[in-house]
Amino acid sequence: MSDIRWKTFWLGLSLLGASLIIWAAKSLVAALIFLCIALVIYIVNHLYWLHQLQIWLKTPSLNEVPDGRGVWAIIFSGLFQHQRKNSRAEVELVTALEGFQRATSALPDGVVVLNHRDEIEWCNPPAELLLGLDASKDTNQPIQNLVRYAEFISYLQSKNYGDPIIVKSARNIETTLQIQLIVFGTAQKLLICRNISAQEKIDTMRRDFIANVSHELRTPLTVVGGFLETLVDTKDAVTESTRTYFDLMINQTARMRLIIEDLLTLSRIESNNEVPSVSVINMSTLLTMIQNDATALSNGKHTIHLDAEDSLNIKGSREELLSAFTNLVSNAVRYTPEGGDITIHWQLKNKHAVFSVSDTGIGIEERHIARLTERFYRVDNGRSRDTGGTGLGLAIVKHILGRHKAKLEVKSTLGKGSTFSITFPQSRTVSERNKEAA
Ligand code: ADP
Repeated sequence: MSDIRWKTFWLGLSLLGASLIIWAAKSLVAALIFLCIALVIYIVNHLYWLHQLQIWLKTPSLNEVPDGRGVWAIIFSGLFQHQRKNSRAEVELVTALEGFQRATSALPDGVVVLNHRDEIEWCNPPAELLLGLDASKDTNQPIQNLVRYAEFISYLQSKNYGDPIIVKSARNIETTLQIQLIVFGTAQKLLICRNISAQEKIDTMRRDFIANVSHELRTPLTVVGGFLETLVDTKDAVTESTRTYFDLMINQTARMRLIIEDLLTLSRIESNNEVPSVSVINMSTLLTMIQNDATALSNGKHTIHLDAEDSLNIKGSREELLSAFTNLVSNAVRYTPEGGDITIHWQLKNKHAVFSVSDTGIGIEERHIARLTERFYRVDNGRSRDTGGTGLGLAIVKHILGRHKAKLEVKSTLGKGSTFSITFPQSRTVSERNKEAA
């Protein structure tokens, strides 16, 4: 830019100098005429190059940037550099985009890019195959018009894309699809679709195997346990010196039966794909029942409080939720030393029903908390066994909650106690207060 300023300055100075010389040599009139002619030429020259610029701007092409004269040569050279930089960036962008499209096309997962109106911008071949889309025809079509699974439409509308959804493919009943939405940029979405049929098959085989083994073991164990008890009860059948061994055998078979019952419960819940009932559970009677059971289990060793909100109920499977709540309460009793307090809370928090159990028990170290819902994960094996634990209680709770779209939260301080809370989704919460707020 400084070049332009200098050039203009020197041109002006030269014109002024020439005019002064003409004035001195001839007359003032001659000098003024010279100045006028020079200015007209100057303006016409600018108008000409402005016109060239206007023509070029209509179809700006790198090869057709005008040469220009004087200051215009500097301006057009600047434009040429700028244009060259832009076209280089454009080539790089196109190459990157093509690379991205080639990479996503090679992915085994289906990828669909949606704009802020949930219309298809682009999709890769696996997405066409898995979701029945046609990239050439379906671009700019709303995704909900083409992917019509009820679960997907409510997932898309929920705006809560934390967890993927699983649907049975409408094109092939044998195929199970996992669909996940990811928001990016300004309200654009990436839809990732995966065929998880093989994984499903392995899971089903594992579940069936555990269920079958547990089922097969139940009868022989019942028989062995029954005979052991009969033997112990039969006069003179067991000598005093061997009675301890028999008692131990009875205890161990009883424990194995509990484990088998829990394994069967777990595989029954896991293989149940039906959405849990949406009938309203009367929580008041259920909570009283849970409190009475806890009092019986505690056998007077703890104080059991119930702090429940009236007219707060939930929709779900009564049998399953009773099992989940009872598991948490019985854990609180089993892991709280004599004289401790256990409080069952049932409250509405931010429009969500929350069931929680607080105890003043042994507490759990932070590092164990994330793993508590794994099958057979115990912090203290001995204590779990001594109190009749199977190590499967919280795994059962997790599955029941998953089916009800509820979340489990554990807060605990070692040596002070724990709080296990279950938060239910708003859709399953039935409360007079929610109705008033609406
Ligand atoms: P278990 O039958 O062993 O109790 P769970 O699956 O119910 O199995 O619980 C897993 C582990 O979590 C338990 O072994 C125990 O170490 C820990 N735990 C569960 N509830 C509590 C609690 N209220 N206080 C302390 N530890 C607990």
